[in-house]
Amino acid sequence: MNTRVVRAACPHDCPDTCAMLVTVRDGIATDIRGDPDHPNTAGVLCTKVSRYLQRTYHPDRILHPMKRIGSKGSGQFAQISWDEALDTITSRLQSIAARDPRGILPYSYAGTMGAVQGESMAMRFFNRIGASRLDRTICSSAGGTGIKYSLGAKIGTDTEQFANAKLILIWGGNPIASNLHFWMRAQEARRNGAILVAIDPYRSLTAEKCQHHIALLPGTDAALALGIMHVLVRDGLLDREYIANYTLGFEQLCERVAAWTPAKTAATCGIDAAQVEWLARLYGDTALRGEPVAIRMNYGLQRVRGGGMAVRNVACLPALVGAWRHAAGGVLLSSGDSFPRRPDRLERPDLCRVDPARPPRAINMSTIGDDLLRASSSAFGPAVEAVIVYNANPVAVAPESAKVAKGFARDDLFTVVLEHFRTDTVDYADIVLPATTQLEHTDVHATYGHQYIVANNPAIAPLGEAKPNTEIFRLLATRMGFDEPVFADSDEEIAAQAFESGHPRARQYDWPTVKAKGWYKLDMPAAPFAQGGFPTPSGKCEFYCERMLKDGLDPLPTYIPPYESVASAPDLAVQYPLAMISPPQRNFLNTTFVNVQSLRDTEGEPHLELHVDDAATRGIVDGDLVRAWNARGEMVARAHVTDRPRQGLVVALSIWWKKLAADGKNANELTHQRLTDMGRAPAFYDVLVQVEKAPDT
Ligand code: SF4
Repeated sequence: MNTRVVRAACPHDCPDTCAMLVTVRDGIATDIRGDPDHPNTAGVLCTKVSRYLQRTYHPDRILHPMKRIGSKGSGQFAQISWDEALDTITSRLQSIAARDPRGILPYSYAGTMGAVQGESMAMRFFNRIGASRLDRTICSSAGGTGIKYSLGAKIGTDTEQFANAKLILIWGGNPIASNLHFWMRAQEARRNGAILVAIDPYRSLTAEKCQHHIALLPGTDAALALGIMHVLVRDGLLDREYIANYTLGFEQLCERVAAWTPAKTAATCGIDAAQVEWLARLYGDTALRGEPVAIRMNYGLQRVRGGGMAVRNVACLPALVGAWRHAAGGVLLSSGDSFPRRPDRLERPDLCRVDPARPPRAINMSTIGDDLLRASSSAFGPAVEAVIVYNANPVAVAPESAKVAKGFARDDLFTVVLEHFRTDTVDYADIVLPATTQLEHTDVHATYGHQYIVANNPAIAPLGEAKPNTEIFRLLATRMGFDEPVFADSDEEIAAQAFESGHPRARQYDWPTVKAKGWYKLDMPAAPFAQGGFPTPSGKCEFYCERMLKDGLDPLPTYIPPYESVASAPDLAVQYPLAMISPPQRNFLNTTFVNVQSLRDTEGEPHLELHVDDAATRGIVDGDLVRAWNARGEMVARAHVTDRPRQGLVVALSIWWKKLAADGKNANELTHQRLTDMGRAPAFYDVLVQVEKAPDT
């Protein structure tokens, strides 16, 4: 037997970006495990990805090009040759481009996080066409924008250092489900005496295992941060030297937070004033004892109208107490900007020849529901005539799903989908192209949760007629007549271009070496802001931020109420009194893995978790089928009646494939397309609904 072990990287939208070892026997992948030598992975893969072989060899894999033979949405296809598929696509794109190339739209996100199979050859292709640009906002852009106003970049505490913290606030996330390797560090810290506090409207698996849980109202995190700041200032729980040397706008901040008394904060957040006092004092006292206090923010808190501001506010806390002085102190939302990426080399925006008569336009992926239904106009430009979807599943994932499906159902829209499986979006495709999985192609990964570049070597040959995304766009470029040398770059050459070798944080980066070793740790200081050096214009942590003023925002931390809540929209709440959030199911990763039977069996069926009091007033008992609805749509799910959501909250763990639900719907029937305060992101967790027992139960 010919057996070898291949170094690989988990490609999924998860901050952990695990280093993996794949055992291959006679060309078949037989085992997958975490690399025990990679410090972050520590030999552990999550349940989802430990089933990656089931996913790769799944009998439902799309292994051949297909064309639609039924109505849009029906999912009826016939196998065709690659030549027919590529010729059809080329001819449709050429005719649209001749009218106006902006009628062509790429639609992609983090189906793979790889630099090579993500936005490299694909974006070269769309830039060369002059297609509409896609504003990739669907997940993290609100928080990413907010933290940059305060700290200057998405850089923070090294995940490995959390093990040494004495207090960890786990804010807006459920790491057991979606940041497992951070959770392992938090557990280590707890064994060493640390206190863990979860801040989340829902008593998630993580919140259940922390010593303390603050169950605030959804969308009020910014207010809680203001209340904590109030107590820190009021009680002098401050590192005055750090503030004087490394922050900007402390006096204005003090004026701003004066109004945010514990009583006002508690009333806004739906908690007790004593909880605000307790949390602020715990944070300030621990820091002033010289012990490391760390905050792990995740993206849950920024999926509301004021989500960017919430992240900005929380990011101000460590500077007030000097938490950055410690390697194990500070805050982490994302480590994404630690990596010296080279998007200009990968995506080649210079290939786009701007026609003054057709200025470039960007379409926000979060409003695809509306934008696919827009007619041509001088304000919008040409109607979207073609969408090429890769690494994404918008029909299930994008907000206000009914409109998204209606847009993709347009008979005059030409849709191409590169995929592994027949997702909800594939059902609307005109042409489906079989894409390779991570085991079948080359890639290299940055991450947003740690500080390692991780390499992915192909372990097995592509199954069936599947091809890497890069190869598909190379072939399309050739057919379109694009003869620039960049379209001939191999995947190995693209991987070598992905990071700036010689950058101070990646001095030794060299693709052949990383590929052989599997991973490379950036040269980052252990405590990145111990002596200031924030990558803001002032070089300081900006409590007062001039850039926000220029961008039309309040330059100081403030609170922006949700679009939809009992307090901010009382009239709407008369009809729809329950707040709904839709965080990730533990065994799914967005919509990936929902079709892996063993994982779906673990999750059961779509369900809605209701507080016991809310269920009782509606005559609902555990196990009933319930209908949740608002003006945008409805969904039916099985009721789980518990005390895990706070009263007034329903939780629809997500993201189910619509076609695998009994009613063909998921929680995005109920979400809306209004955008966050910054970053143009969707406010998925800023939703009011009503719930009743489903009529047939
Ligand atoms: S999904 Fe996350 S935790 Fe699971 S294997 Fe991938 S990177 Fe690791």
